[in-house]
Amino acid sequence: MYNEPHFPLKNVDGVSLPGWFELIVGPMFSGKTEELIRRLKRAKIAGQETLIFKPKMDDRYHESHVVSHDENFLVSKAIEKPEEIIGMVKEETVIGIDEVQFFSREVLEAIRELTKGGRRVLAAGLDKDYLGDPFPPVPDLMAEADYLTKLHAICVRCGAPASFSYRKSPVKEKLLLGEKDDYEARCRNCFFE
Ligand code: ADP
Ligand code: ZN
Repeated sequence: MYNEPHFPLKNVDGVSLPGWFELIVGPMFSGKTEELIRRLKRAKIAGQETLIFKPKMDDRYHESHVVSHDENFLVSKAIEKPEEIIGMVKEETVIGIDEVQFFSREVLEAIRELTKGGRRVLAAGLDKDYLGDPFPPVPDLMAEADYLTKLHAICVRCGAPASFSYRKSPVKEKLLLGEKDDYEARCRNCFFE
């Protein structure tokens, strides 16, 4: 079970402590965005300033919101490159990044920089693509994460926990942004069948 780490980041002597990096991974429909929104909302309620980024290409619903499949949402900044992150963070102490699989590996540098400054960084993204292969840079981020949460959807064929995103349409382009019509969550048996 995931427990939120303590915050703010000072030890008993008032010495500043480093921030940390939380990563949420899983297949499509596993609730990654929901979980990201849940954690960020709690931080907000506690009076912590938050800032959320997502890749500009992901405009499925709204240019400036992070929206889960059940239509929960938070306002976010759509950026083209992870290099833009550092310049945009000011007083915010809790930083969210959604659909992190669509950023280049440079996102790791941004995450390190932010956590070094004592911030809490949360990211969510697909660990595997529709072929079942690792989705860079997420495997590297999984190694870097201080806290890692791997979520499951429910296999639409058999009801088992699903950790694969199965593409129903024949398109071979890795970055196709899909919705329910293009993908379904499947367990490993149903995926490799
Ligand atoms: P993710 O960010 O992982 O793609 P979201 O947080 O956007 O997931 O959406 C999760 C929601 O998707 C669930 O709460 C549920 O309402 C819906 N959903 C659709 N298909 C499934 C499925 N096969 N298993 C579980 N939830 C599903
Ligand atoms: Zn199955």
